[in-house]
Amino acid sequence: MILVIAEQQDGVLNRASWEVIAAAQQAGGPVTVAVPGAATDAVAAELAAADVASVVQVTGDALALYTLDGFVAALSALIAAEGPAAVFLPHTYRTRDFAPGLAVRCNCALVTDCVGTHERDGQRLFVRPVFQGRLLADVAVDGPALVTFQIGAVRADSVVRGAQPAPVRAVPAAVDASAIRQKPEAPFREAKQAVDLTQAERIVAVGRGIKDVERIALARQLADAIGAEIGASRPICDSGWLPMDRQIGSSGQTVAPKLYVALGISGAIQHLVGMKGSRTIVAVNKDPEAPIFEIADYGIVGDLFDIVPALVKELQG
Ligand SMILES: Cc1cc2nc3c(=O)[nH]c(=O)nc-3n(C[C@H](O)[C@H](O)[C@H](O)COP(=O)(O)OP(=O)(O)OC[C@H]3O[C@@H](n4cnc5c(N)ncnc54)[C@H](O)[C@@H]3O)c2cc1C
Repeated sequence: MILVIAEQQDGVLNRASWEVIAAAQQAGGPVTVAVPGAATDAVAAELAAADVASVVQVTGDALALYTLDGFVAALSALIAAEGPAAVFLPHTYRTRDFAPGLAVRCNCALVTDCVGTHERDGQRLFVRPVFQGRLLADVAVDGPALVTFQIGAVRADSVVRGAQPAPVRAVPAAVDASAIRQKPEAPFREAKQAVDLTQAERIVAVGRGIKDVERIALARQLADAIGAEIGASRPICDSGWLPMDRQIGSSGQTVAPKLYVALGISGAIQHLVGMKGSRTIVAVNKDPEAPIFEIADYGIVGDLFDIVPALVKELQG
């Protein structure tokens, strides 16, 4: 059995939970989904729509606010009781905090940032990028493993839904509140996003190849011509050339539009994980070796300052 640890905050499920459920389903065998928290009825009902063996609410007041000690205590007890072959988690900030301690407490291996799994000679292998994404390593583990999946590595919409809701059961969290050493402060709230790129059907994204802030107007012309939103790689947002809510990638938004046009973006792994779920990817880059071409459906090798005006002219013509 694979145990998936879903993530929720104030009754709102982190979308990456669906990605990890999909990864567990694709790995084969029964899947149980656990959701820790104090009030998780609605989230558990939502999760029960997936084609899984069961959903377990790990509940208790000590889990109302996230703490490292609380999660390690509650989840290690759950893992000991359920005895899964592997535990799958989304590679979120929260997981990054508690997964190492949980792995130590459970005496299991921790394989982080996986992008997939496959089987060889009857052994399950976990695939994770190494050397800044230049190579993929197959990691084999003896015994049960905690495995975290990179956000966007598996499509959330590939989750198989059940014919009927999965059974939901609640188990009290085995947490001694007085043993929790951390004192959580009010949760960090992100600034409200002005634009929700996750819902955009078309995106024109600019990278460092655009050279300076004034020239973003050129990308806007192309975006206007095809009714697209503007997105960007991280250096563009770090420079303040576009607001942070336009950033796409591992530390920005994960998008999956019908059309993604990448202008002067090299295709670093941190960018790719945020957009590789796009249905059609068009890349314009003057470097024929740029990694973006490895995932592009249409690649244009050339200077974007020649190509974009030509495209705009053609589209407006
Ligand atoms: C922890 C961490 C998190 C990160 N999170 C993100 C993230 O969320 N999103 C993100 O995007 N990055 C992220 N990064 C940064 C990432 O590693 C890359 O540095 C970044 O994506 C590179 O941006 P770029 O492709 O715009 O720039 P570059 O890598 O500099 O690429 C510019 C490209 O433009 C091309 N070019 C130059 N001139 C022209 C021209 N005239 N016409 C056509 N092409 C041209 C070049 O050939 C080059 O391929 C993160 C990094 C770390 C360490």
